[in-house]
Amino acid sequence: MNLVVIGIGLIGGSFAKDAKKIHPDAHIIGIDKSESHLDEALELGIIDEKGDYDVLASADVVFVSIPVNALMVELPKILDAVGDDTVVMDAGSTKGLICEVVNDHPKRRNFLACHPIAGTEFSGPSAAINGLYEGKTNIICEVEKTAFKLQERALELFQQMKMRIRYMNPQAHDKHIAYVSHLSHISSFMLGKTVIEKEKNERDIFDLAGSGFESTVRLAKSSPDMWTPIFEQNKENVVESLQEYIQNLETFKQLLLDNEFDDVYQEMNNTNRIKQILKGIPLTKS
Ligand code: NAP
Repeated sequence: MNLVVIGIGLIGGSFAKDAKKIHPDAHIIGIDKSESHLDEALELGIIDEKGDYDVLASADVVFVSIPVNALMVELPKILDAVGDDTVVMDAGSTKGLICEVVNDHPKRRNFLACHPIAGTEFSGPSAAINGLYEGKTNIICEVEKTAFKLQERALELFQQMKMRIRYMNPQAHDKHIAYVSHLSHISSFMLGKTVIEKEKNERDIFDLAGSGFESTVRLAKSSPDMWTPIFEQNKENVVESLQEYIQNLETFKQLLLDNEFDDVYQEMNNTNRIKQILKGIPLTKS
């Protein structure tokens, strides 16, 4: 298998590692705008060689894992360069505008729109992890617009990586993901900001930070280069989710001011259901 990974960071590097484990004879070529990331990926054995878009014509699979604003510019050029039998899949965290930008491309049937719900707060090839995708969900959009045999090639690879597949339209993807991913990142960034501004002495933050603070603020270590274009592309849904979140924060603050501690208790007790939801246990109707 000839695999080309464009954007050899956390997501692309992890994909290359798993692909190599499943297909030890795969030849993996890395393309990236960062020469140092390419060198690092070579040193780490994540890719076999560096390349450019000339190699795309003979690729079986192209995995594109660059920031979503770069995807808008590069995907049409990538499709221009691939062969008729190449499947191109992206990993972008937004899907609406990305599906739109390739919709009328003559090679639209070579493209599969994906979003693997897997990752960490780190970036670059050194953050790539073996088995990152195992047991994780891969959201696929507009599958009917991809040639059937190319869908099959991609799905076989995802299956070998032990991913679960969910099919969704791009609008539903962007709406749902605003709540379960984008809002969590904003909330973590702003929690970090609030604490940093209050506790000007960074040493105190370091000494006092308990595991609750550390786990809640983990996503605030994420890359602004990656997240700014995500928020820009999904602005409408993100603003809607933020409004609902701010309303909940306001309600909670008001309950405290009004000494309504039974209601404070209830707010938290109702939200404890998240334990069952995250374990996939169906909720009993009350
Ligand atoms: P990353 O670790 O920063 O890797 C992205 C790589 O792409 C970097 O080496 C970057 O170089 C390079 N790059 C940027 N623009 C490029 C361009 N125009 N052409 C070629 N290479 C380019 O980011 P990541 O976390 O792997 O994220 C990659 C994609 O996966 C994004 O679309 C993101 O939305 C999606 N995603 C991320 C996660 C997550 O949790 N991180 C989860 C699911 C999906 P520079 O560093 O020099 O810019």
